[in-house]
Amino acid sequence: MSRIVRGVTRDGSARFFIIDSKEIVNAAIGYHHTSPTASAALGRVLTGASLMGCMLKNKGDSLTLQFRGDGPAGIVLAVSDYCGNVKGYMSDPGADLPLKKNGKLDVGGLIGKGSLCVVRDEGEKEPYVGISSIVSGEIAEDLASYYAESEQTPTLISLGVLIGVDRTCRAAGGVIVQVLPGADDATVSKIEENAGRISSVSALFDAGKTCEEVAALALDGVEYDLFDEIGVSYLCDCSRERMGRGIASLQEGDLEEVFSEKEEAEAVCRFCGKRYLFTKEEVLGIRRGMKG
Ligand SMILES: [Zn+2]
Repeated sequence: MSRIVRGVTRDGSARFFIIDSKEIVNAAIGYHHTSPTASAALGRVLTGASLMGCMLKNKGDSLTLQFRGDGPAGIVLAVSDYCGNVKGYMSDPGADLPLKKNGKLDVGGLIGKGSLCVVRDEGEKEPYVGISSIVSGEIAEDLASYYAESEQTPTLISLGVLIGVDRTCRAAGGVIVQVLPGADDATVSKIEENAGRISSVSALFDAGKTCEEVAALALDGVEYDLFDEIGVSYLCDCSRERMGRGIASLQEGDLEEVFSEKEEAEAVCRFCGKRYLFTKEEVLGIRRGMKG
């Protein structure tokens, strides 16, 4: 299980969230058979979504990050629940690019230019939707820019995914430090000074550091309290019922076409690859239920 540690500076200037997300990223690689660059891209989006999701207040709230870039990855999407449990997918998990000159995976190139859409569903009638431009496609920078532009909240974000030669995730993690209203300038400058020490967060976890030790680096020189830790996973909540409703809401003509070729219609969950089969009678039954 992956882990998130949450805390706040003692003077109330900033709150912070630190995740060790290696298990989440390895689960995503297992479900989606991603190329190394795609693993890093989807892994960073899942890591960011999990941290942003655990800031939600109530059970049932959810947060969706959708990167709509023009790069070979296509759409990269992740959904988190209010505890930070996440699931995600990308249009082309097999897409890959050569390493950059500095030897790093070219996540920015795989994502490309375009927009980032953040949807926060907090049980209101209409969910909150924020749209900002993709700055670099490197994910952390794009999320920080989203917070600055759409929420006017200065936020330090570092996300990292290290993929091994065996194509599994060797280490992954993320840090969010968010400045709160009325923050003390001296505390904020200290946090900014420390930013460089957590810029390569996957290397810190790869070296065996814990979330608590990463927090100590991010907040060096600042007094703070850790208030809790939570276990988080890659969690898909798909169900036969929900997938059946998806099939049943297809156009009449499309349904006829599916059943003219096969006895059963197949629905595959985009998040976990689970397959569900439905007979024509079942689909018609679900349709009747939906109308009534
Ligand atoms: Zn699923």
